[in-house]
Amino acid sequence: MQERTWKAVVVPEATSDGAGVRLRRSIATRSLDQLDPFFLFDQFGSENPDDYIAGFPMHPHRGIETITYMLDGSVTHRDSLGNAGTIGTGDVQWMTAGRGILHEEMPHLGPKRLDGFQIWVNLPRKLKMTPPRYQDVAAARIPEVALPGGGKVRVIAGDVKGTAGAVREIHADPTYLDVVLPAGETFEQPIPRGHTGLLYVYQGEVALGGAAANRGQVIPSPRLAILTDGDVVRVHAASPARFLLLSAQPLHEPYVRWGPFVMNTREEIAQALDELRAGTFIRP
Ligand code: FE
Repeated sequence: MQERTWKAVVVPEATSDGAGVRLRRSIATRSLDQLDPFFLFDQFGSENPDDYIAGFPMHPHRGIETITYMLDGSVTHRDSLGNAGTIGTGDVQWMTAGRGILHEEMPHLGPKRLDGFQIWVNLPRKLKMTPPRYQDVAAARIPEVALPGGGKVRVIAGDVKGTAGAVREIHADPTYLDVVLPAGETFEQPIPRGHTGLLYVYQGEVALGGAAANRGQVIPSPRLAILTDGDVVRVHAASPARFLLLSAQPLHEPYVRWGPFVMNTREEIAQALDELRAGTFIRP
């Protein structure tokens, strides 16, 4: 059993996207284009509606999955295939864009604030043109595992001590956990060897490793820690902490990214743009 530690710690970059949503981006930046198969990692969070209310008006996606997880506030989703719904506090939407959707994602003016994450996971060549699919999971359907010492884990995807996550049948065989850990507690999670492992600290501070003497330096929030390979990760809360733990199977395929499309070749990107112009991008 080899323990995973971190090989790099990424400081999220302040940026804006959509029609002017301010966010913190850790993947899909000039310094970190992607971490196979993760192609974007955004945290949004503000109590100022001007930072988010313009939202993400109609835009296309092809060749990826987009995963939206709301901590606070809500986002209404509507797409060109007639799907519509609200991703509320604690809910997850795992959208497999596949061959293509056009959608809008519009935050609501909440009573307090808007907080959440959006992550993109690349699709393998054989699934790039799969029909679009949604897994919308309401907060109450996301299993929660209590940890000794008062911590808890929301299991969005993957498996924690025999509790299976709410999102299933995803090619990347992902783990997506939201962990609350009181100061001084340790959370241990197996991660398949060879899978890309990420830890995003969004509250408090953590250290990785077993006994105190072997722990690396403390990682503050907000930070994205890129994990080394191994079989298991042990996360120690240096202060009361909240973090996402993510892993997924890398594709090891060539890729070309153009905005909201990730394909294998330039020709496939050109084809997506041609279809958008011709109005044939969406296939009923
Ligand atoms: Fe989108």
